Amino acid sequence: MTLNADERELLRRISEAGSPVEPPDYFHSIHPPDFPRSAADDDPRREAWVELQMGLYRAYIRLHELGLVEVVDPATANGATAWWPPRPAAPHSDRPRPAPSSGDCPVLLSGRQPAASGDLLEAVSVRRPGDNGGTRARAGVMVAGDTGAGRREQQQMGFDWDINFPTTAEIAALHGEALRSWVDTGTEAVAEIVGKPAERVRSRLTRTAGVKNLGAADDEDLRECLRVLRTWLSDPASYTPPAPKPKIQRPESIGQLPVPRTLKQAHTETTCGLCADPVKPGDLVGRMRDPKDKQFVPMGWLCAHCLYERREKPRRRDVVLRIFHHLFASSAAGLNAHECAVLRTWLTETEAPAASTAWRNDPLDTTVVRLETSVTEVKGTTWIAVPTAHTIITALLDAPGSSEAETALLRAVAQHLDEWQTNPQGIEARRYGTGVRYRAEVLKTTSRPTVLSERGGPFDLHHTPPPTAEPGDTADSTA
Ligand SMILES: [Zn+2]
Repeated sequence: MTLNADERELLRRISEAGSPVEPPDYFHSIHPPDFPRSAADDDPRREAWVELQMGLYRAYIRLHELGLVEVVDPATANGATAWWPPRPAAPHSDRPRPAPSSGDCPVLLSGRQPAASGDLLEAVSVRRPGDNGGTRARAGVMVAGDTGAGRREQQQMGFDWDINFPTTAEIAALHGEALRSWVDTGTEAVAEIVGKPAERVRSRLTRTAGVKNLGAADDEDLRECLRVLRTWLSDPASYTPPAPKPKIQRPESIGQLPVPRTLKQAHTETTCGLCADPVKPGDLVGRMRDPKDKQFVPMGWLCAHCLYERREKPRRRDVVLRIFHHLFASSAAGLNAHECAVLRTWLTETEAPAASTAWRNDPLDTTVVRLETSVTEVKGTTWIAVPTAHTIITALLDAPGSSEAETALLRAVAQHLDEWQTNPQGIEARRYGTGVRYRAEVLKTTSRPTVLSERGGPFDLHHTPPPTAEPGDTADSTA
């Protein structure tokens, strides 16, 4: 019989121990990790090391099969001595739970003496694409410890976790009960991995996700819970208390936005629920309070710019988004002096918008003067009615030098403004009326989805109450 190097080394250590042992306790000293704890999940050194650890598990199985190590005590499923911890059934997975078999689930030899001080304390994991498109998180949580009083503080386990937890893209597509079900599954899975009661994991989860009451949480909050759980499952070492909330100085006066309902650091890559910009892990994200006016839809998680700065230091896209959501909810868009300045520059810095067909058919000269007045007088709100706003968007499509994101957004707004006028899907006025509900339905059923139709609305972008009169007679009034 030929033993490979791992099998020989493991057998040597077990035979020298002098009393029953749990062989995986040796794994970290046979192949110590050569990367920092903070190394990324897909760090090649981490991946290579996990492979070495798995090789040792295979060695252990083979020694058992060859009858070279003897089972002293059958394993129980309490996580302390089990090879495979019990796994919660994954919702929406029709794969059967793999039952432990004698081949891949050897019992451990228990009754081992306390681990020597200095045994490696390390949490490791590696993610791989799962068989059916999900994520297969292979995690070995190695936390052997010695209190020095002959009592083992922490236990050790190694296992292959494949609950196919949703990817970030899948999380974005989940709704309602499916989200809740995954929150439960993920919480139990994390509890299993970190060896804490599910209730404690749940409590840390709500604090980390910035969700007060899980029972009343909306889909956006539940999705954030899943993103947090996903991070913890992929890297159990990241199961730490939430970072303290940062103190942010809000702009004052006409650029000010309300205090957000909640703030946190993003756990995974995601996109802003308003401007759709990418958000990196660690970036500040937050949610605004639910709108008081029920015609508005709550916004998802917003980037720091959208939470604090979009009205004080507006980008061109902020102004376009504002026009879109105001026209969605009412018959005019209200801009403050900062936003008017951005729009005026965009319309006049080149000749192209003024030369466009849209401008020639519906001259914007008076509007440009009103924008200038707003800037000079630092006005809180200047109203632009639907037809003028529509012309502005169309004319700006001819402006050279717009970024890709700006052009895409202008196109999307132009498309939806057109669809609200032409009703290409034939939405029934009898059922949806001609107001916000109609526009929401047209947006939802568009045959050409955009970033705007994905996010829905209308969003309450704050501070400019809808005008009382209809467009036409208010086109040139200022509030
Ligand atoms: Zn944003």
